[in-house]
Amino acid sequence: MNVGIVGGGQLARMLALAGYPLGLRFQVLDPAADACTGQVAPLIQGDYDDVALLERLADWAEVVTFDFENIPVAAAQAIAGQVAFYPPAEALATAQDRLSEKTLFWELDIPTPNFATVDSLDELKDAVARVNLPAVLKTRRLGYDGKGQRVLRTSEDIQPSWQALGGVPLILESFVPFEREVSVLGVRCRDGATAFYPLVENHHRDGILRLSRAPCFMPDLERESWDYARRLLDRLNYVGLLAIEFFVKNGRLIANEMAPRVHNSGHWTIEGAETSQFENHLRAISGLPLGSTRAIGHSVMLNCIGDLPERTAVLAVPNTHYHIYGKAPRLGRKVGHMTLRGDDPGTVSDHLRRLLPLVGFDPDEFG
Ligand code: AMP
Repeated sequence: MNVGIVGGGQLARMLALAGYPLGLRFQVLDPAADACTGQVAPLIQGDYDDVALLERLADWAEVVTFDFENIPVAAAQAIAGQVAFYPPAEALATAQDRLSEKTLFWELDIPTPNFATVDSLDELKDAVARVNLPAVLKTRRLGYDGKGQRVLRTSEDIQPSWQALGGVPLILESFVPFEREVSVLGVRCRDGATAFYPLVENHHRDGILRLSRAPCFMPDLERESWDYARRLLDRLNYVGLLAIEFFVKNGRLIANEMAPRVHNSGHWTIEGAETSQFENHLRAISGLPLGSTRAIGHSVMLNCIGDLPERTAVLAVPNTHYHIYGKAPRLGRKVGHMTLRGDDPGTVSDHLRRLLPLVGFDPDEFG
């Protein structure tokens, strides 16, 4: 089966690497001539809204998916009119706008921070009165890894935050003094069958995911997260893998955002689950039966941000798997990840203490 992917970053690359053993073939469309999936699959270089190139991809493919959620919805709809396109364009459109996303959470009774839309300084003042401080002002669109956000702690912060972000549609949401951050991955097939991965605990620095631990063994929260994920998958008539990020406060989940694609907090599944998120996404969109989402032991995934630790040093730590994305080093860029997997949590923690300094952290961080 031929699978087209819009976007050729590391997620598309890991999708292709997971799909070849199943006999799938890939082509990707990406504006960058050096998009890293081009090293493992044919690359069509061009803009996401180039109609002729989208048609070419859709002509070749039997199913098209994407690795980047900011592709234009019109492009997604054009492809969907020509060939099977999953996850559905509606899910893409919802996830692209924090307002539609939070409105959907609210409609489905999934707890989410209080929020208000902001399109002017006066609206920001009104929103602060309704949502209360502290609060987080975010761009509704094109925000990722904490970009396009400002925390407002006092009314003194209103004017500077508006100056920093104003001019595009914004949303103000209440600041959640969370105890931890977790995420869940759910996958749904063309025939409606679903599966859910164990709940994952995530640690961010400067808005970027640094470490994921799975499973995180919080059975009540895990059950709750699967219930919320199922509501979203069914409501969106979803096909493929969906990630949802939550804050945990007072032992309850509060949904922050969702991603209609394979997700960084699921990279541990390559070695740490019976079937990886990448393979299950491909199985779902190709109409194949889903594989087991069971975790195999304990996993910790560490992102390499900006540059890559030396290969020998990483692989000298037992039970460590290294994934290098083939991207040029650049400040703040995700260029690789490593996953530690083991059967004994104590041994995994000991090995983690050796890996953390390689990515610039103290061995005692994330204890
Ligand atoms: P986001 O781009 O919405 O995923 O935000 C990136 C990170 O900023 C999150 O993982 C949180 O650590 C933090 N953050 C975002 N929204 C809030 C909020 N409403 N309250 C507290 N922290 C937040």
